[in-house]
Amino acid sequence: MIQKSFLRNCPICQEVKGWRLHGQRFTLSEDHPLKEGYDVVACESCGFVFADTAVSQEDYDRYYASLSKYADAATSTGGGALSWDAARLKETAELLARFEPNRDAWILDMGCASGGMLKALQDLGYGRLAGIDPSPGCAQATRNLTGAETWTGTLFKCPGWKAWTV
Ligand SMILES: [Zn+2]
Repeated sequence: MIQKSFLRNCPICQEVKGWRLHGQRFTLSEDHPLKEGYDVVACESCGFVFADTAVSQEDYDRYYASLSKYADAATSTGGGALSWDAARLKETAELLARFEPNRDAWILDMGCASGGMLKALQDLGYGRLAGIDPSPGCAQATRNLTGAETWTGTLFKCPGWKAWTV
């Protein structure tokens, strides 16, 4: 392993250096914020492993809001339109159901894409479902597919939570 100074501080403890575990490189369009790839690093203080990138949260938010590949159910994963994607979502939903068997529990899919995971959970009998996605198209597709409460937003810019006061 190579020791390095991070491009961003450790999200857990704010340490500034650690070890490079892997160099993740992509073949992406010029408008993608991660076009250069990133290093996967381990913090030398707490051991947290994360993507060391100089790309800002605002850049990610802008990318996923306007250029999300998940908005088109016919060409992307996450919506369950493709048979293998639906099988993957069903398998994941069944795994999640083992951890939360209460069908009346609220479940929020943060980054819901076009709603395939919420649909798979709905098929298992869950009725209190909600989704948030930075792409308005994804939020609408999720609403159309599931009838779930959906909002356009991110983890860092959450919409109002009135639906969560049960
Ligand atoms: Zn740390």
